[in-house]
Amino acid sequence: MKHTIPLDKNVFSQFLLAGMAEFTIVSIETGRRYSFKAIKCPQEKSTIPEPPIWVHMYVSKVSGTGRVALFMGTIFKDNDGLIYVHGRRRKHYEKRQGIQAFKWVFKHRDNVPETVEIYHVGKCSSCGKKLTTPTSIKNGLGPVCLKKIQTTEASWAIYDKHLTEET
Ligand SMILES: [Zn+2]
Repeated sequence: MKHTIPLDKNVFSQFLLAGMAEFTIVSIETGRRYSFKAIKCPQEKSTIPEPPIWVHMYVSKVSGTGRVALFMGTIFKDNDGLIYVHGRRRKHYEKRQGIQAFKWVFKHRDNVPETVEIYHVGKCSSCGKKLTTPTSIKNGLGPVCLKKIQTTEASWAIYDKHLTEET
């Protein structure tokens, strides 16, 4: 599927972590494009309460026709917030430009610089439904899913604040 719809970078973080994100990062300077999907690990397979997110990179098939999504690493929560950990058995790919591009954008996910554009496929990155209104298409998330994500984030922020006040 082609990733051709520009994403509002202000919601990139929510979009990326929603569970079914499919997107392309484009460097404006070089014109290079790298495509990814970030899929939430099924709860039953997760050993931690907040299921991690598996990041895959799309690469061209050896046969030359079509693409295949290769697992590259995992995003999960640790004490300092979210981190990306590159797959142990994928170490020899870590220096590849696409992976470097992903890591850089992940690091700047709350404030994606002007030099990068992000495109998506027009589906909600949380539930996978086709987006129809201009706002949802811009956000890469439907209104109900975005609301749910923001409510959860707000709850965690309040929880964190209480923790800090207690200690
Ligand atoms: Zn949705």
